[in-house]
Amino acid sequence: LEAIQKLKQRLEQRDILEFQLRNIANTDALTGVSNRMALEEYLKFLEHKPEKLSKTGLIIMDVDKFKHVNDTFGHIVGDQALKLIAKTLKANVRSSDLVVRYGGDEFLVVIDNIEFTEALYLADKLRCQIVKDEIYIPEINDYIKISISAGVAVGATSWSSLLEKADKHLFRAKARGRNAVEG
Ligand code: GH3
Ligand code: MG
Repeated sequence: LEAIQKLKQRLEQRDILEFQLRNIANTDALTGVSNRMALEEYLKFLEHKPEKLSKTGLIIMDVDKFKHVNDTFGHIVGDQALKLIAKTLKANVRSSDLVVRYGGDEFLVVIDNIEFTEALYLADKLRCQIVKDEIYIPEINDYIKISISAGVAVGATSWSSLLEKADKHLFRAKARGRNAVEG
């Protein structure tokens, strides 16, 4: 009986470890939001539910002039800015929305079942919240603000076309002068 108990304990420990490892593998180490691996998993799930994709919202965001932030204040401040953006995103979306660090200074918010106007409203709310955040820079004894631009799209027949639409809109937001949302 003792041996069975021990075996049970070991199996439970293994399950916990597996859960923790999967969490680590799906999380972006710098910001703590989901990484591309987590997104891939979500997309595998979406693939089998095309009716869901037609109502899925996507916000793609890119930090404005981030190279300049790194060049002027250093990479540590840059990293701090990315962490703060991730925290603000997480704090302002629902737990069912997926926040992904998609690239260096690019974030995605994937929203299940949303209307276009709502998605646009959310993207602009996120933009406003992010530009409100201030980062203290000891060297200059002052605060800096970071802005993002965002592209929004809702519903497509494939993930790649949804991403393409949102990306085109992001490009328009950048062209409009940044710190802007387009959909
Ligand atoms: P734009 O407004 O056109 O987006 O200008 P940008 O300078 O932000 O241009 P871009 O998005 O192409 O540059 C992204 C920069 O992000 C380049 C790279 O140095 C920086 N970056 C990428 N990953 C990290 C990171 O993990 N930490 C820091 N500090 N910087 C990063
Ligand atoms: Mg950028």
